[in-house]
Amino acid sequence: MPKKRKKNPKAPRKQAPARSISAQRPGPEPEVRVVRVVENTGLRGSLAERYPAPLDGVKAARTGEPVEWIGSIEGSMMRHRIVLADDGTAAVEQAVFVGGCLEQVLLCAWHQAGEPGRDRFEAGVLTALDALHTTLRPILEAEVRNVCPDYNAAVLRSFREEPERHGAGMPLFGWRVLHPVGPETTWDDTVDAAAWNSSLTMSSWPDHYDHVPALQPARLAQLLGDHGVPAVLCAGCGTPITDRHPRWTGIWITPDSESGPVCGDRHAGSDAPDPVLGMFTDEEFGEPHRPA
Ligand SMILES: [Zn+2]
Repeated sequence: MPKKRKKNPKAPRKQAPARSISAQRPGPEPEVRVVRVVENTGLRGSLAERYPAPLDGVKAARTGEPVEWIGSIEGSMMRHRIVLADDGTAAVEQAVFVGGCLEQVLLCAWHQAGEPGRDRFEAGVLTALDALHTTLRPILEAEVRNVCPDYNAAVLRSFREEPERHGAGMPLFGWRVLHPVGPETTWDDTVDAAAWNSSLTMSSWPDHYDHVPALQPARLAQLLGDHGVPAVLCAGCGTPITDRHPRWTGIWITPDSESGPVCGDRHAGSDAPDPVLGMFTDEEFGEPHRPA
């Protein structure tokens, strides 16, 4: 029986490949670099070509037209849009949504919290995200300062939105900053480099920020736990798990559909001889996850 290859849990989602803002890579002047990122991600094409300046976008938004870009640069999903406040002011929202391992940890914890624990879960996630940003911001700022010495990273705030229509049911979480819009504001003024790069901290690619301890799954789970969020990792494989999913109540399971309730890769490193006449071995049943 052919052995199924285990899917890379960090495999990228459908996204347009694009260059990130990274001070570690040689390239053009910083201002040009920021513009290039905007171009590569399609933000310029979808917003700047339709609305020459953010103020033009504000005028369109006031007529009810949605002025919004959603995309990514190898990391988690981002959103750039005009938001109108009740007092008549307008701003460009630059938002980064939780993705990657953190999204997986949160989803399991959301099930783990259950209906009675939802308010506490959401409040805990928001404060934990603010704390995580406080840790990450100097790291991201220092990277950009390598090419732009006077750069100061924007301070992002955590936010929560209602679950999206085809999602897992959990509210959406992320960080965002609101850029004020004036007559002279350009789209490039509304792109904070560190905010863009923060999406890479929740990257689908495994190597961008593996060197940052705060982003390791165990540290993320600990941070969330410190804020009352019931994040659980498997003691065997380290995967985020829950035993309160309504279809799998009492069974520790991960959202990764290929491993599901099976801990680790049951085929990895198995040097047991294959059976001659039958197809299956007892290894096919695998081992269950167990909470750390
Ligand atoms: Zn496991």
